[in-house]
Amino acid sequence: MTGAPRPYPGALFAGRRHLPGRRAVVLLALSLALMLAAGCEAPSQLHQRQLYTFGTLVEVSLWGVETELAERAFEALAGEFDYMNEAWHAWRPGTLGTFNERCATGEPFPGDAGVVELVRLGASLSRQSDGLFNPAIGGLVALWGFHADLPEPRAPPAAAIAELVAAAPAMADIHIDDDGTVRCVNTAVRLDFGAFAKGYGVDRAMERLRDLGIDNAVINAGGDLRAIGSKDGRPWRIGVRHPRGPGALARLEVAGDESVFTSGDYERWFEWQDTRYHHIIDPRTGWPSRGAASATVVHGDATTADAAATALMVAGAGAWPAVAARLGVTEAMVITADLEVEMTPAMERRLQFTAEPAAVRVLPAPAAGPAD
Ligand code: ADP
Ligand code: MG
Repeated sequence: MTGAPRPYPGALFAGRRHLPGRRAVVLLALSLALMLAAGCEAPSQLHQRQLYTFGTLVEVSLWGVETELAERAFEALAGEFDYMNEAWHAWRPGTLGTFNERCATGEPFPGDAGVVELVRLGASLSRQSDGLFNPAIGGLVALWGFHADLPEPRAPPAAAIAELVAAAPAMADIHIDDDGTVRCVNTAVRLDFGAFAKGYGVDRAMERLRDLGIDNAVINAGGDLRAIGSKDGRPWRIGVRHPRGPGALARLEVAGDESVFTSGDYERWFEWQDTRYHHIIDPRTGWPSRGAASATVVHGDATTADAAATALMVAGAGAWPAVAARLGVTEAMVITADLEVEMTPAMERRLQFTAEPAAVRVLPAPAAGPAD
């Protein structure tokens, strides 16, 4: 049995319903009448469009823009997502595949500028996570069968896993010169951007929206999202998916500029000989990570939130606060395999449970390690 990536329909709930008083209704009617008289369109409506990328439905919500600008924005984002999906796809032939082939030769080659930028970002996040987030382990992800639309349900031979773990592919093994020339000093390196490309894509898309003068928006990629501004002056209300059931486990409100990303063992998985294997691999063992069912991170930028959510999943129950601190993450929640909730004090302050967790532990953040 396989679990295909599913969009999470309830991830973004609309902001609280606005119940205007009588005076507000009169004012609203007046301003609408004025706008109509002037031939203007009321910009205070919600425009939404669903786009498909990164194996997921991305819902873009724009508030307070006119239809023409909204259409232009949707078109720009569709082009942007198509490009990123093609360029960074982990197993279809394309830019990343070519990069990996050349990396495997150990010879120098001119790196694609987009991939090089992601390598630089990925290397820094990988270092901060003590290598738990490691986009160089594409070989392991492929070995587990997750480089396929439908993974074949079988565990790889233990010896093959051990061999790849011993080869220790790391982002630091990719050397990049100032002119963009790349050389992989470890030929076991295979890039797989699956753990942070969605976050990076959302950051890039948000930049496009800002360039177009849009200040109130949510880009929701299957429950992982970045929100800027507000909806009608009210925070966007976000649901955090229950790792073992439909619907939300908790909700929180985001406003200003925040990203909320969750990694979970339920996104892609298969069952083989009565054991469930999921798609987040612990680079230290080469096996799917254990001890966490999901990890949720709130952070300013989506790239960091996405990478950190994966790193905290790998770190697992009890061990994740130290990794969060190293990544500069102060708002995080990990749901253990027994459905107990562990979270930082800052997360506890803003989260509201919509389903009863088995237990809740607030873990104080340890002092951050030395800055890189
Ligand atoms: P989700 O699918 O829940 O958003 P993630 O953001 O955690 O998951 O990304 C998981 C994907 O990242 C995997 O499918 C694989 O391609 C890749 N991956 C798996 N383990 C790691 C890891 N330890 N570090 C970096 N990338 C990983
Ligand atoms: Mg991730």
